[in-house]
Amino acid sequence: MRQVLVAGNWKMNGSRESIRSLLDGVTGGMGDVKNAEVAVCAPAIYIPLVEELLTGSEVAWGGEDLSVHASGAYTGEIAASMLNDFHCKYVIIGHSERRTYHKESDELVAEKYEAAMQAGLIPIFCIGETLEEREQGITNDVVARQVDAVINKLGVAALAKGVVAYEPVWAIGTGKTATPEQAQEVHAFIRSRVAASDASVAEALQILYGGSMNAGNASDLLAQSDIDGGLIGGASLKVDDFLAIAKAAN
Ligand code: PEP
Repeated sequence: MRQVLVAGNWKMNGSRESIRSLLDGVTGGMGDVKNAEVAVCAPAIYIPLVEELLTGSEVAWGGEDLSVHASGAYTGEIAASMLNDFHCKYVIIGHSERRTYHKESDELVAEKYEAAMQAGLIPIFCIGETLEEREQGITNDVVARQVDAVINKLGVAALAKGVVAYEPVWAIGTGKTATPEQAQEVHAFIRSRVAASDASVAEALQILYGGSMNAGNASDLLAQSDIDGGLIGGASLKVDDFLAIAKAAN
């Protein structure tokens, strides 16, 4: 049985005040979350505050990105060791917003995967097709290419140290969710792709769905056999919505 993970991706949102209130609400509601691990990934500048507010709670935390470099003259970058210093458990890598706006390639994402893994952080490795790619019928080719970039660079065993998040780009922040069947089909494909290299890694791999997941659609998505949780953007900024998604795994 794979553990369900519900992870928030706050993106570039929040303030000291809003984060205090959000985390106060989330930690306060954790008593009703029976079957999911809950985590939040925060903008780097707020990670010390998140650590302060979540230490001793059941909620884990992480970063939204990291550098491939260990340290040095890389202005503005955040090293894996820095995330470690603030006891992050997770770090998102390869989010479509980074792939699109920061031109992150599959190869760079695989390097980030390695940097996270070497530091003992759990990468939440995002993959997914654009609307154009879906309409061309190449969804499986795209996610296979993205997964293979990590397998080819680091070996399939690396996937045992991370979590995959399937996030169709057309569903992120758009209010358009993949149907449970559409998502399940791609999740099953991703698992089969990994299984072709190692069946036991594939079986244990947590594959999260991300893309306009909300309180209303979470139960149907989480009921699918290959969907092991969610990566939640917009709804992770609202206490009730985020908790409702986590509770949908009950
Ligand atoms: C995300 O950014 O990872 C995401 C899934 O966003 P949203 O839930 O807002 O679509």
